[in-house]
Amino acid sequence: MSAPFSWIRPEPWGVQIVPADVWIDPGRAVDRALVTHGHADHARGGHGETIATPETLAIMELRYNTREGAVLVEYGESIKLPGGVEATYIPAGHVLGSAQILLEHAGERVIITGDYKRRPDPTCAAFRVTPCDIFITEATFGLPVFTHPPIEDEMAKLLKALGENPDGSILVGAYALGKAQRVIAELRAAGHSDPIYLHGAMEKMCRLYEEHGVELGDLRLVADHSKDDMRGAIIVAPPSALNDRWSRRLPDPITAMASGWMRVRGRARQRGVQLPLVISDHADWNELTATIDEVNPAETWITHGREEALLRWCELGQRKARALALVGREDEDE
Ligand SMILES: [Zn+2]
Ligand SMILES: [Zn+2]
Repeated sequence: MSAPFSWIRPEPWGVQIVPADVWIDPGRAVDRALVTHGHADHARGGHGETIATPETLAIMELRYNTREGAVLVEYGESIKLPGGVEATYIPAGHVLGSAQILLEHAGERVIITGDYKRRPDPTCAAFRVTPCDIFITEATFGLPVFTHPPIEDEMAKLLKALGENPDGSILVGAYALGKAQRVIAELRAAGHSDPIYLHGAMEKMCRLYEEHGVELGDLRLVADHSKDDMRGAIIVAPPSALNDRWSRRLPDPITAMASGWMRVRGRARQRGVQLPLVISDHADWNELTATIDEVNPAETWITHGREEALLRWCELGQRKARALALVGREDEDE
C-alpha cells in the first residue's frame, strides 16, 4: 500500500495525478491535461488531450485555435482515467465553464478548485460545496484586507457616474473573458437596457457567451459608430485600451476599471482610473475561509496567491494545511 495521497503530486508548473499520468492546469504542454477554466494561467494550447467542460473547450478553441484532442465533460459527469482514478467536474462560479475537479482514487477524495467565487454571477453556474479529504484552494485575494463589496453597490456607482455625464461616456476596463460579460449582465440586471459599446477585442468572447445562453442585451461595436452615437453610453474595453490612443474616439470618457485589485488605491492610480469598481471573480478573504469551513477537509492545500495568511488562519483553527508554490499564478490579472 502506498502512502495516503501519494498519488497526487504538486509540481511548480501544475499538479500531477501520478497513476493516471495526467496534469491539472499544467503550465506546459503535456500528453493529457485536465483544465479547470479558460484563463491563460490555467489553459494553454498544445496538449495531446484536453479534458474540460464544453464551455471551456469552446473558449480554448477561440483563444488558441485548437480543438484537437478535446474531451468534453459536463458538470456532474465523471470520467474514468487510467490507474483507477475518477474525475468529476463541479461548477466553480468563476467564469463560464469554470470547474472544480474532484479526483477519486483508492477511496481518497481530492478537489482542485481552480479559481472560484461564491457570489452569484448571472454568467456562470454557481460554486457547489463538495466534501473531500484534501481541498486544494486558490488564494488570489487571501488577505483579510480583501473584502469585495456587493456588486450592486459597484453597479450603482457606475450608473450614477453615467447619469452625471450625459454628454460624455464611461469607459470600463474589464478582462475579455468573464469580467466583461459579468459587468454587462449585471448592468442589465440593474435595469440598464441602453446599447453597450464594445472594443473589437471583446466581441467574439461576448458572442460565445451568448451562444451558451448568457443574455447580454444590445451590444454594438465602437468601430461602427460615431462619437455622437456614444454620448451617454457605457463602453467596455480590455484594460490595455484604457490609456491607448484608441480611446480618443470616445466622447469625453470617464475611465473606470472593474477588478478585485481596485481595492488597492495605488493600482487604480497607476492605471489612471478615475472610477475604480471593486468587482472580482475570485473569492475574497471571507469567502475563502467560509468555504474551507463548509467543505471541512482533513487537509487544505493553498495555491495561487497570498498563501501565508490563509495558512496561518488554518493553523489557528487547528486545520492541517500547506502552501503549494505554483509558478506564474501569484498576481493574476482579473
Ligand atoms: Zn481564472
Ligand atoms: Zn487563476
